[in-house]
Amino acid sequence: MPIFPISMGRNLGYGGAAPRVRGSVVIDLGKRMSQILDIDADDYTCLVEPGVSFYALYEAIQAKGYDHIWIDTPDLGGGSVIGNTLDRGVGYTPYGDHWAVHSGLEVVLPTGEIVRTGMGALPGSNTWQSFPYGFGPIQDGLFSQSNLGIVTKMGMALMPNPGGHESFMYAFAHPADLAPLIEIIRPLRISNILENVAQVRSAEQTIAVQGRPKTDFYTGPGMMPDEVIEREAAKLPCGKCAWVYYGMSYGPAHIRAYKLDIVHKEFSKIPGARKIDPATIPKDNYFWSRDNIAAGVPDLEELLWCNWTPNGSHVAFSPVSPIRGRDAEALVKLARDRRVEYGVEMFPAFCVGLREMHLIVEIVFDKTVPEARKAAMDCLRAMIDDAAALGYGEYRTHLALMDQVASTYSWNDGALMKLNERIKDALDPNGILAAGKSGIWPKRYRGRGWEM
Ligand code: ADP
Repeated sequence: MPIFPISMGRNLGYGGAAPRVRGSVVIDLGKRMSQILDIDADDYTCLVEPGVSFYALYEAIQAKGYDHIWIDTPDLGGGSVIGNTLDRGVGYTPYGDHWAVHSGLEVVLPTGEIVRTGMGALPGSNTWQSFPYGFGPIQDGLFSQSNLGIVTKMGMALMPNPGGHESFMYAFAHPADLAPLIEIIRPLRISNILENVAQVRSAEQTIAVQGRPKTDFYTGPGMMPDEVIEREAAKLPCGKCAWVYYGMSYGPAHIRAYKLDIVHKEFSKIPGARKIDPATIPKDNYFWSRDNIAAGVPDLEELLWCNWTPNGSHVAFSPVSPIRGRDAEALVKLARDRRVEYGVEMFPAFCVGLREMHLIVEIVFDKTVPEARKAAMDCLRAMIDDAAALGYGEYRTHLALMDQVASTYSWNDGALMKLNERIKDALDPNGILAAGKSGIWPKRYRGRGWEM
């Protein structure tokens, strides 16, 4: 009997709660395993079960009155901490790389044994959540974006309250400002002057996140023309622009002032760059949503751009690249060319990690229209191939695209997939667990027409 474990199933844009194999029994772990097993207020760590959402963790910390502890939340706080971390989701505080700050897993293997990784393997250990490595090979990676186990507990580091925080927003006037901006961001980000995952968003997405339909702005054929984007952006706090930067500075006022001054000098090298004074931004503007998220306060506003089309649904194309202007330009061009070809609506945004950036291109479509669903899928498939031809790979993808994305990681005659399959067959000899997840199929499914 094929089984498919989920934590809360809110992996929106990447497949939600859906199993890859029709007829699988979905194990909804979050339904009953939803306890916060520990919050250590001295070590700044926690231990959670699959059903603990970012909201639940945040609220538990507030309820205990732990003002000195922050959590990190992704764009949408309603999902599972474990589910998001296993899928290598990110948030927007300095602790945004969730996988990097997890410490210790408890896992049920496909054959039924239960293992604890890291220090959890030592009975009575008191450092399971504070030293992720333990002794010997680190097995945690086997259980991330994989189908080798059911994770029932996970430890995670929590962030100390930095003693102050301040969101900032810059608007950049021209589409061509993207490349120089990315070049400026790279050294600032690597040296932690820009301390959190930086977001560079298109003006179009900033217009759409008001939650209003496209037809409010434009009723003509095809995509919204550039002049309409400029006109509508001009009505928003960002003003007439092509790109908007959202960031946050952490620490007491004098420390923030030191860093923000450097940022301002660097960003001002781009002609026409404008810092938007937060005091002028209305409280219902999306800026304050980003302000919450970057301060570890869960929020749900992000998906308002789904209202762009009737019955709006979304799916993401998420390639990774170096933080370089020429890569940003190549990826935006690739996406825009395919957008024109397939006539889909899309919103590109760059999320700049420490030494790489993810371009997240959200495609929004009317889920009740078969042609719109097909156009979204065809466009995604084309973009994945285009990206791979240029040397870019996705960091995460929708369940339906996992075979294709896995096939792009093909170096040395597919050596990585061969290794994945050997491990899969060894740990899951009956091939029951989440077959097809991340493009990894157990022996009894391989080459029988399941891959797509
Ligand atoms: P979230 O609710 O945070 O969005 P999901 O529950 O949708 O996360 O998890 C995303 C994906 O990660 C799932 O589709 C599943 O493949 C995998 N996954 C999630 N939780 C577990 C778990 N506890 N054990 C094993 N795999 C999991």
